[in-house]
Amino acid sequence: MKFELKTQFQIESARFLPHLPKTHPCARMHGHSFVLIFTFLGELDPQIGWVRDYHEINELLRPLLTQLDHQVLNEVEGLSNPTSELLALWLFERARTLLPELTRVTVKETPTTECSYPGVLA
Ligand SMILES: [Zn+2]
Repeated sequence: MKFELKTQFQIESARFLPHLPKTHPCARMHGHSFVLIFTFLGELDPQIGWVRDYHEINELLRPLLTQLDHQVLNEVEGLSNPTSELLALWLFERARTLLPELTRVTVKETPTTECSYPGVLA
């Protein structure tokens, strides 16, 4: 029996998007309070009655989030062009090696927008 889990984090980061025309507002350095949502699909552990310990998930993801929080994303290795799409991919590729049940990473750069990398569909 499989269940879907989601956990979300907020980080504050600066970025600029270098491939946009200079006149575009996102070409200038600016900040976002990014909301990052990680989705997992996994089998229920019949002994404990859960899929995965949220505390363990948080501990595993924290080093990745530390690389991004209060940083200029363009300076992070692999994020020279830190669009929300490429940030979701960057997070997925790294988090998936730690948490194989990961199916999706969603990046919300504002309260009204969100971008998801669906990874491997279950
Ligand atoms: Zn932006």
